Amino acid sequence: MSKTETKKWMLFFPRCECEQPIVYHLVKDHNLVVNVYRAKVTPNEEGYLVLDVTGTEEDIASGMEFVKTFRVTINETGIGVMRDEKRCTHCGICVPHCPTGALSIKDNKTRRVEFNGEACIECLECILVCPYAACASAF
Ligand code: SF4
Ligand code: SF4
Repeated sequence: MSKTETKKWMLFFPRCECEQPIVYHLVKDHNLVVNVYRAKVTPNEEGYLVLDVTGTEEDIASGMEFVKTFRVTINETGIGVMRDEKRCTHCGICVPHCPTGALSIKDNKTRRVEFNGEACIECLECILVCPYAACASAF
């Protein structure tokens, strides 16, 4: 039996695709286990969906082919939040707000705030609290 793996996808739907039951079909037709981290509809009715999909390599590939049949922008990098190093003053305000430790201070001498995109779950807390707009959504 093929080994299962987990991929993080970030999907951005233009207005007209928001009502599509994409998650339902990923589960039912492509045998994927789907864990939705974040689903949001903007005031313009565009949709964002951040999810983990778990399944065999073949099922993930077929699920991705299915998703690509929609008018949807797909980010497979697993990194949807970016930090602008030039703007970051390393004030540390964001660190206690980050639930996963994706933002952390590793060196108590320099007090530099490090960002680990792989640990980020797209909760967007850092974007809300950063006074210097150093954190931004990739979408
Ligand atoms: S709150 Fe903003 S400026 Fe301060 S450490 Fe975090 S990302 Fe950098
Ligand atoms: S989006 Fe959330 S998990 Fe990601 S770095 Fe910001 S606070 Fe941490």
